Amino acid sequence: MKNLLKQSRDPHAARRCKLCSLPAFRIAALYCLFSIVWIVLSDNAIEAVVSDTKLLSDIQTGKGLFFIVITTLLIFYLIHRAFREHQRSLNYMHTLVEAIPDLVWLKDPDGVYVACNSKFERFFGSKEREIIGKTDYDFVDKELADFFRKHDVAAAQAGGPTINEEEVTYADDGHKEMLETIKTPMFDSNGRLIGVLGIARDITLRKQQEEQILHQAHFDTLTDLPNRFLSLYQLSQRIVEAKRDNEQIAVLFLDLDDFKKINDSLGHDTGDKLLIDAARRLRSVLRDEDTVGRLGGDEFIVLLSGLKHAEDVAPIAENLISCFSEAFHIDGRELMLTASIGIAIYPGDGDDSSTLLRNADAAMYHSKEEGRNTYSYFTDAMNRDVSHRLLLEEQMHGAIRRQEFYLCFQPQVDVSNGEILGFEALLRWKNPVLGLVSPAEFIPVAEHSGLIVQLGEFVLIEALKAAGELRANFGEHLKMAVNLSPRQFRDPNLISVIQEIIGTSGVPADSLELEITEGVLMSGHTFIDNALAAFSQDGISIAMDDFGSGYSSLSYLRNYPFDVVKIDQSFIRDITDDPADLELVSAAIAMAHSLGLKVLAEGVETRAQLALLAERGCDSAQGYLFSRPLEFEDAKVLLSNKQSALESEQV
Ligand code: C2E
Ligand code: MG
Ligand code: MG
Repeated sequence: MKNLLKQSRDPHAARRCKLCSLPAFRIAALYCLFSIVWIVLSDNAIEAVVSDTKLLSDIQTGKGLFFIVITTLLIFYLIHRAFREHQRSLNYMHTLVEAIPDLVWLKDPDGVYVACNSKFERFFGSKEREIIGKTDYDFVDKELADFFRKHDVAAAQAGGPTINEEEVTYADDGHKEMLETIKTPMFDSNGRLIGVLGIARDITLRKQQEEQILHQAHFDTLTDLPNRFLSLYQLSQRIVEAKRDNEQIAVLFLDLDDFKKINDSLGHDTGDKLLIDAARRLRSVLRDEDTVGRLGGDEFIVLLSGLKHAEDVAPIAENLISCFSEAFHIDGRELMLTASIGIAIYPGDGDDSSTLLRNADAAMYHSKEEGRNTYSYFTDAMNRDVSHRLLLEEQMHGAIRRQEFYLCFQPQVDVSNGEILGFEALLRWKNPVLGLVSPAEFIPVAEHSGLIVQLGEFVLIEALKAAGELRANFGEHLKMAVNLSPRQFRDPNLISVIQEIIGTSGVPADSLELEITEGVLMSGHTFIDNALAAFSQDGISIAMDDFGSGYSSLSYLRNYPFDVVKIDQSFIRDITDDPADLELVSAAIAMAHSLGLKVLAEGVETRAQLALLAERGCDSAQGYLFSRPLEFEDAKVLLSNKQSALESEQV
């Protein structure tokens, strides 16, 4: 093996070969010279001393025999030394090749094995002596032997090392390995191919790690579904195919309803387990050729190809929704889950993946608005909604700095005597592009973007500034109600910020009323309990806003430190026509009073409504009957008019 190794294609090999033979040439020449000198000198010396021819002949015979013995000993010594050197080199080489953890082998140009190491022996399950002189066809099936031969020939033709990867099975114990093989052709000093050297390295672990990294880059670690990147890539691939085959594709955007509440109330561990089970259920109701991927959080995408009609998606969407109809059993709990789905169809609703995804998202949003647990097909009107929402978001950036926000104040009136008890501060947004935008429209967008935290601080500062001025001019009894949105409670600084704003305003804490909706309480977070307890302790009064419009859970009123219940205007609207509504409002008033809470009726527009509310014992009211929300200057005018009316009454 050593010699053959030396003879691989190397430009210096021939020169080095000549140099190698130089000592041998030198020794031979020296020996030749010594022999001639010896023969000539010894013959002449003997002839000069001995004259007897018989004795001369005997001496020369003895001299010849002596020469032969010396020469034989010399040849023996030289050959023995050369063999020993050779053997030592072979041992070095053998140890070296054995020490290499890779498979090493050598074949002649015909593919016949010349040498191999013991790692290679394991591959064929035979000893080196059994391998030498044979070819791959003697050990592996023809297909694999052809493959090896093809690569040997390719390496020889390439004239330099070639690399290929192959999975092989070891004959000794049957284990498999992924090998990276480098085949190097070897040439003699004349450039003639004399063999191919093969070295194969086990790259199984590296391949597994590469595959793992690739998997992690394309699949969601929690659910093992394709992630956003892979899902959108698959969508773009399907679009190409659908374009070619003139077919339709459906993109379903699926969002789990109120999933955040589960995370918030039961913890992320439970949320994660629920997501895994939900993903499994979604996968189970789809065909193998359909894709379901996780876009992130509680959002999933489903891709359906080969559709004839857009209506064919409806039963599939229904299946997806109904796969959640049974409770999930997680950590000994029974959890119910519903989903909202939006459907966009290629090519009608978009011909690229991002448009289709955006439109399916808009349709999903619509399903949420429709009351959740349902599906909607995308329509152009939704597109306009999305564009409008995007425009709102865009315009909202920097709107506080540009002073586009301001407050209006709506009076809250004592039902028994019409006296103004205070005001509710209501935010307004006047934008040069959008005009006057209703809070019902922009508050959800501000909540979504997180801007509500900053906006909330602005409202509190402005409202308390206004309260300070009103109280100074029109009486210390006046209160100021400010709405707090659920998102503001996620701000860990909420309590300290409010305390600080009250402190700098100089207005006493008990003149502030914070209005919150049931949505805030539903997440069940302890920091909400803490915040409400802290507000109450500071003397701030707390009102439940829009009572009756949501779950209207009595337990909330009992368990939290509320001072006021604001009955939603949707109940007040019909109390004069609908006896059931009147009874509900009466029951709510009685119940709130029994819990020691005051009751305010929202949206009072007529004298008849006010009369009924007064009759049923409602404490205060707010609505267009008394005044629309007013700009600050107008609120002051209203108060001074009231004051002068009162003064003239007293006169
Ligand atoms: P809300 O807190 O229930 O406020 C009462 C809403 O009812 C106000 O609408 C008010 O103009 C309207 N309203 C008052 N009286 C009547 C009436 O007699 N008839 C009718 N039809 N409507 C009446 P607005 O100002 O458009 O506010 C809508 C909602 O926006 C508010 O409902 C509140 O939830 C939210 N909002 C307003 N300002 C803020 C704020 O500063 N922060 C937060 N987080 N939300 C706010
Ligand atoms: Mg309110
Ligand atoms: Mg309200």
